[in-house]
Amino acid sequence: MIGLETLKSLLQERYLKLRSSKMVAVLKVQDQLISSIRDFLRKNGFVEILAPIIGPVTDPGIRGAKQVSFSYYGVEFKVMSSMILYKQMIIASIPKVFSVSPNIRLEPLETIKTKRHLTEFRQVDIEQAFASYNDVMRLAEEMLCSVLKEIKTKCQVELEILERTLKMPAKPFRKYTYEEAVEIVNSLGFHVKYGEELNWKAEEALSKIHNEPFWIVDYPLTARGFYYLEHPDNPGILRDFDLLYPEGYGEAISGGERETHYSRVMERIQRGGEDPAKYGWYLKMLKDGIPPSAGFGIGVERLTRYVCGLENIWDAVPFPKIAGIVSP
Ligand code: AMP
Ligand code: MG
Repeated sequence: MIGLETLKSLLQERYLKLRSSKMVAVLKVQDQLISSIRDFLRKNGFVEILAPIIGPVTDPGIRGAKQVSFSYYGVEFKVMSSMILYKQMIIASIPKVFSVSPNIRLEPLETIKTKRHLTEFRQVDIEQAFASYNDVMRLAEEMLCSVLKEIKTKCQVELEILERTLKMPAKPFRKYTYEEAVEIVNSLGFHVKYGEELNWKAEEALSKIHNEPFWIVDYPLTARGFYYLEHPDNPGILRDFDLLYPEGYGEAISGGERETHYSRVMERIQRGGEDPAKYGWYLKMLKDGIPPSAGFGIGVERLTRYVCGLENIWDAVPFPKIAGIVSP
């Protein structure tokens, strides 16, 4: 593991790193990844929309990271931690949408060690009206396999430079419930309590014992944001999911079906200790009615890290921002 001071000075000299053949190969693979994802989604009827960057509220479900606030003509505004609340605004008129959405999250300092957290990153954020969580999980599997296949044929030279052998995963991907995942990580020596998120170390350990991507579905309500739908016949459990990459790369995707009932969302916001007034426009939109939907976000830099087989996420982006480190 690279020392903090070395990392800081390397980031000050990023212009040098960007001239290395490996870094050039990573950026070319990334260019192909983004282009392949766009092609796949357009072929499947999705329309790309421009993501918001600032707004009066943003995604609160960001696992211990802090939001960035600033004064917008005297009103407190946020930089998007994710555009989740906005995707639901548009699917009434365009039922399949996606965005390459920039997100800012002031992650805790300890995330320098996870090798998969940046404070500025991008998600391909996807939403589909009237879809179930199983529908969008299938979509994600098809998207990932189609993109990996294209990378293998179009980026042979770059993968050789990076000495990366990409395995094609078999569909459908293996699925664990959250409960099963907790049992497995605890059998590996972790102490995750039912109802908590899998911590980063546990997530990495679980990822390490797999050689293909896999799902964790049905998280408990206590571990996730207010916008996920509770199973109608299984209270306390959400219709949501994470996809984990194999080989220790950890979380790739989070997503699920949305709760769209005004009163239930209101109750969940209050139970989470937040002031519903903050979510004024969002709650009004739910009151007026929006279609049910499901969707997910896949981190572009994490996908690049996995595809290129990189040790650290900060080498999967040209100008990385990492918790606590001031860099260009
Ligand atoms: P989340 O809403 O937190 O599940 O984020 C959605 C996806 O964005 C995750 O599954 C990751 O692929 C990616 N992501 C989230 N946080 C970060 C981060 N700090 N750095 C890089 N990628 C991230
Ligand atoms: Mg997540």
